[in-house]
Amino acid sequence: MKVFVTGGAGYIGSITATELLNAGHDVIVYDNLSTGHRDAIPEGARFVRGDLGQPKKLARLLAEERPDAVMHFGAASLVPESVANPAKYYRNNVAYTLNLLHAMLETGVNRIVFSSTAAVYGIPKTIPITEETPTNPINPYGESKLMIEWMLRRFDEAYGMRYAILRYFNAAGALPNRGEHHDPETHLIPLVLQVALGQREHIKIFGTDYPTPDGTAIRDYIHVQDLASAHILALEALDEGSRTYNLGNGQGFSVKQVIETARSVTGHPIPAVEAPRRPGDPPILIASSQRIQRELGWRPRFTSLREIIASAWEWHRTHPNGYRR
Ligand code: UDP
Repeated sequence: MKVFVTGGAGYIGSITATELLNAGHDVIVYDNLSTGHRDAIPEGARFVRGDLGQPKKLARLLAEERPDAVMHFGAASLVPESVANPAKYYRNNVAYTLNLLHAMLETGVNRIVFSSTAAVYGIPKTIPITEETPTNPINPYGESKLMIEWMLRRFDEAYGMRYAILRYFNAAGALPNRGEHHDPETHLIPLVLQVALGQREHIKIFGTDYPTPDGTAIRDYIHVQDLASAHILALEALDEGSRTYNLGNGQGFSVKQVIETARSVTGHPIPAVEAPRRPGDPPILIASSQRIQRELGWRPRFTSLREIIASAWEWHRTHPNGYRR
């Protein structure tokens, strides 16, 4: 298939684009490089620098390329930033996705794989979280992604646009030559590894009074390559109907467990200091990904936290400046 990948210069988008090419698909990356990196885009993909805020350009490009499907990674994705600057999230995520969907309608492109998030669930009443768990986001990031999910459902009903909504838990890990590089970095695992590289003095633990065994927040870390394989399965299943899947590895790890594992992987003491909770953070997010396992036969290959952190460490150790030359 020919796949139009928005945000294909970003962390998850570039790794999925790489795996798409490996699986024999054609890839066009559309990215404004605001947070993505030119060097993350795999060789073999056509790259067009552009913004989802440019509807005419999008429609022209889709008309010219006639892709079989869109994979839509391009978005703002930081919970704390969304709390401080909600306008950015409703514009970049909601309004700009509407531009994309509109351009798809105009040009007859009617398949989309969409990057959603566990943040649509807010503070769930039951763990693990299934796709049936009620959605109730507690920050603008989660709200913006949920609004897009609503649009996709209605676009399918009204226009027959087929979607796969993939609700990611915490993406982590790396390929040997592609990994996480955000500026500024806000995610736990890369920050911890920056301490191990001597780029930071300590890691702050945001919240030690959560209702969890060690008092720190629990997340389900899923290897980015397992995310990529789920995208490809979801893409290939789109003709059989629209669907919504959670993507996690089904296990939760606390902030303290992540730091402890990183100490063991890197051999560095990684000093930690306790800090207040970060606004917008739920205490525990653990996925049930039974549905995609049952329906598409997806299996996560990297289930241990150690393996996930070790792959991230390999990338950070060999690329201490990320994609910066
Ligand atoms: N976290 C932390 N210190 C940091 C960064 C993150 O304690 O410097 C915590 C954060 O509060 C959350 C977890 O680590 O409970 C994962 O945060 P991250 O930003 O990696 O992903 P999110 O869950 O927000 O998508």
